[in-house]
This record gives sequence, C-alpha cells and structure tokens, in this order.
Amino acid sequence: MGKIRRRLLAWFAVRKRDLPWRRTKDAYRIWLSEIMLQQTRVAAVVPYYKSFVARFPNVQALARARADAVLSHWGGLGYYSRARNLHRAAKEIVARHGGCFPREYDAALALPGVGRYTAAAVLSIAYGQRLAVLDGNVARVLARLGAVRGDLRAPALWRKLGATAQELLAPNAPGDWNQAMMELGATVCTPKSPRCGECPVAGWCRAQKLGIAGQLPAARTKPATVQMTLAAAVLMDPRGRTLLVRQTGGDGALFSRMWQFPALETTADAASKLAHHLREKFGVAAGGQMTPLKTARHAVTFREIRLEPFLIRVARLPRIGGARTPVLGRFGHLPISNATRKIAGAAIAQSAKPSCP
Ligand code: SF4
Repeated sequence: MGKIRRRLLAWFAVRKRDLPWRRTKDAYRIWLSEIMLQQTRVAAVVPYYKSFVARFPNVQALARARADAVLSHWGGLGYYSRARNLHRAAKEIVARHGGCFPREYDAALALPGVGRYTAAAVLSIAYGQRLAVLDGNVARVLARLGAVRGDLRAPALWRKLGATAQELLAPNAPGDWNQAMMELGATVCTPKSPRCGECPVAGWCRAQKLGIAGQLPAARTKPATVQMTLAAAVLMDPRGRTLLVRQTGGDGALFSRMWQFPALETTADAASKLAHHLREKFGVAAGGQMTPLKTARHAVTFREIRLEPFLIRVARLPRIGGARTPVLGRFGHLPISNATRKIAGAAIAQSAKPSCP
C-alpha cells in the first residue's frame, strides 16, 4: 500500500489547487470551509469563505455575532441551516471547549452540523488525526479502484467503503491523504468521464483495467423534483421603501428565518390570490395596481420554484409588528435569500421605468 500512497501524495503535492483554506492549519477555518463546501462548488465557496473569515476571523468572533449578521454573511450560499448550525456550534466551542475546535472525535461529532465526514476532515487536516473521510467523491474513487458495484449509499456497502478508506489512509499524512482523495475525485476521477490517462493511481485501479470506470458507480434514483409557483408582493411607498417579513411556516415561507417579500404559494391566478392574501393578512388593497415583474426561477433542494413577483405602489406601507421597511434594494445586513434579491432586482428595474407614456 505504500506505493499507491506515495504516488497519490506526490501527485497532490504538485497538482493541488491553491485554495485559501489549504494555506492554514487553523481548525476553525478548515471547519468553516468544510461546512461551506457541503452541496456547494469550490469556485462558489471561495469568495464567501474570504468575506466570512474577514468578518469572523475566529470562533470567538463568530460566537459573539448576532444570528442575523451570520446569516447575512452567509449570503447567497443557500442551505442556511448550515450557517445556523455553525453559529450554534461556535457558541458551544467557546462555552465548553475553551474556544478551540475539540480534538476528540466524539466531542466534534456532538457539535451541531458536524457529521462523521466533517469531524474526520477537520481532525485529520488540522490535528493530523488518523481518521479517513468518506463522502460521495471519495466513495466514487474507492468504488472504481476496487471495481465495486451496487448502490454506494446502501448502509452495508457504505460501511465497507468506510473501512477501505480507513485501511488506505496514509498514517503519517492523514490530512494530506484525505485531501488528495477528495482532490482526485473532484478533478480527475470525476462522476462523468473519469480522466484515467491523467490519474496517478491508474495502475492500481480495477475499474480502469476492466474498462468499466465510466459505468461506476451505478446511478442512484433521485427524488422527483417538485415544481411550484410563488407569488410575491413588492410593496413600495412614495419614499421607495418596501415591506419585508419573516415567515417561519405556512404558505410562502420558503426561506425560513430569512427576510422576504410577502409571498404566497399558488398554482394559478397568482395576481388575484396574492391580492386576496395581502388584503386578508396585511390589510393592503392592491386591486388593479399590481404590475407584473419579470418572472425568475429558483431551485431549493428538490423544489424548482417559479417566482411570480408583482410591484404594488402604495401610499403607505402597512404597520406589521416585527416587519422591516428598508429602501428597496438597500437591505444592508438583513439576511435575505437569492430569490428575494432576484425579485428586488426586477422591481428596481421596473420602478426605474417612467410611469407615463
Ligand atoms: S484510473 Fe480512472 S477510474 Fe480509476 S481512480 Fe483513476 S480516474 Fe478513477
């Protein structure tokens, strides 16, 4: 096993991408990068990572911050539960672990939002602990190396792959080894069309020898996508201010704990349903003043959302307890989703048009 380890580590030393979290051994920053990288591409993470560490340079700064500020700096990365868990975990680290990411695997696993993969990644990279990571990328590489067939996420097979990953782990460089496996999966042994000609471990790969690399792993059946339409109301008063609410449940509450325009999930006849909703819930008589805005698409996990926004000019915004009334587009540090930004952009474009022919 020594040869394959040396070969992959040597390849990683030369070919690894220069990423900001690879220039540090700071457990906080490595943990942050691992959380941001969940479900998100490296290129998208880099700017958010940089601005997040500039604002929250250590776990103490994060623990002290207000939840709104953390969500706001999470910005358009999506999957906001990651940011909420990160914040809660930072508070626990300060309260129970003296401000240092715990070195014990079980203590790391007990933190909100930290699963086996994240715990192993942080402890191996930051502290050099001999813990192998296993995620979709690494599982794919291992399955191809061993020509393993079947659904890799099936519990028995996943456990077997975990044991293989642990056996293969380079004992003297566990952090680099884990990163090398991830890098190989992300850049060479990619899901479609693996580039076996450039692969440093091709000589050990059974799938490549059998000519079945492209067929492994077997495709998983994805849950069906749910299509939905969300009608949103951009109320605007003569001073350009708008109404943002925070919906935590029920119709239109797609962005839990984020500020959003009053919205309603609908299937048809969005304008009249939204007008009814505004009248019932906010006492706003929108009537014939609803200007349809450019529609947009937004995807959240398995939901594909069609945003159908309307600009509604009102003499006065309704007074709603706990609501916010910023100038449209000037949202400062309020945590808002990408969907809300898209709607605001469409409303600003529309409101800039002259209202008379
Ligand atoms: S030889 Fe091909 S299939 Fe095998 S590990 Fe390398 S890139 Fe993946």
